[in-house]
Amino acid sequence: RVRTRFAPSPTGFIHLGNIRSALYPWAFARSQGGDFILRIEDTDLERSTQAAVDVIVEGMAWLGLDHDEGPFYQMQRIDRYKEVLAQLQAAGHVYPCYTSVAELDALRERQMAAKQKPRYDGTWRPEPGKTLPPVPEGVKPVLRFRNPLDGVVAWEDKVKGRIEIANAELDDLVIARPDGTPTYNFCVVVDDIDMRITHVIRGDDHVNNTPRQINIFQALGHEVPIYAHLPTVLNEQGEKMSKRNGAKPVTQYRDEGFLADAMVNYLARLGWSHGDDEIFSRQQFLDWFNLDHLGRSAAQFDEAKLRWVNAQHLKAMDDAALAGLVAAHLQQQGITADERLPAICGLFKDRCETTVALANWAKAFYTEVQPSQEDLATHVTEAIKPALSTLADLLEKAPTWDKASIAAAIKQTLTTHSMKMPQLAMPVRVLTMGTPQTPSVDAVLALQDSKKVLGNLRKG
Ligand code: GLU
Repeated sequence: RVRTRFAPSPTGFIHLGNIRSALYPWAFARSQGGDFILRIEDTDLERSTQAAVDVIVEGMAWLGLDHDEGPFYQMQRIDRYKEVLAQLQAAGHVYPCYTSVAELDALRERQMAAKQKPRYDGTWRPEPGKTLPPVPEGVKPVLRFRNPLDGVVAWEDKVKGRIEIANAELDDLVIARPDGTPTYNFCVVVDDIDMRITHVIRGDDHVNNTPRQINIFQALGHEVPIYAHLPTVLNEQGEKMSKRNGAKPVTQYRDEGFLADAMVNYLARLGWSHGDDEIFSRQQFLDWFNLDHLGRSAAQFDEAKLRWVNAQHLKAMDDAALAGLVAAHLQQQGITADERLPAICGLFKDRCETTVALANWAKAFYTEVQPSQEDLATHVTEAIKPALSTLADLLEKAPTWDKASIAAAIKQTLTTHSMKMPQLAMPVRVLTMGTPQTPSVDAVLALQDSKKVLGNLRKG
């Protein structure tokens, strides 16, 4: 059974580059009928925050990236790591190292000066026939992993192909600090074993950790999972996307009116493709997704493209469902919508990229509009006022308030005053909607409150 995981560190607000590393393992688990596990890697106590965990959980829930198990927190598993560490030590894969930080620094300087790669020199590594230095008084050791000296670590990466690292390149990793707390690479391996992860799909900033993790898997006598290391997501400036250079927390896209399905669609394409298909549903994505079509090169975020994808989903979305999202934006501004909202959404969705833009249109139906002086001066001229007053009178007498009656009243006004449609429609739009650019005026007025329309026309 396929089991994948997303293992974010809650050290900053999760952005689109991060969440894409959740999307693929989620999609793989879902498309294979497997399990998707959420694990919070919160061992960096200084930089981890609850607020960052909240954004992860909220962002994933919004995007519909549901997990089957978790969230597990590494800080709650420390005892388990220590237990496995003890097993590893008992089996001779771990040894105490008393080299101090100052000594390590000096070693590094010497190596750098000699143009060598800085690495631990193995002073405390026990070998048959080797005499270790005397244990210094009062020093708490770190524990190091006895990395194999010879051979290579190799894996078939699902994205990058075969990767081989000579063990000679890897030094003996610190896997427990002097206070006994286990370090990152070790915890990841214990978790991936305990959580029975079959496929590790993660960012390629972890490629360098992988050979070390594979050696730990092997020392623990466990089968190594399949790895897929995803290329970086670049921002619009071509830099690695990060909070520091302005990446937004993923939940901000919800607040800005992006649709979860559109985000999934857009993010899916940021490093994976299905032929030339640009717009697809969540279900199509799951039907099509596999690890063989993951891209090898870095993908670049493009907000204009995201907006376009969002607009396509928005257009295709059911009016009632859309109204639910738009109502939430309106509610935030203290506006309570009513049963007209689905039809309003239907009328305006073609011209909107986001649900926030749609909410801005909807506002004109629930609040007083404020046309600009310029639009008033251009469109609501003295010459047009008699026609506006005729239209108001006819509308007041109209038998029903619907598109057909409104169209009839407009037509009659045009005839009476020998005018052309735009001459009348523009001022009516400005007065009732606050702008001359709207869909057909009869359709718009039909959704407006009749009393409000009459008041607006007479104000003109
Ligand atoms: N916690 C790591 C990160 O946020 C991911 C580790 C992993 O996926 O193995 O970059």
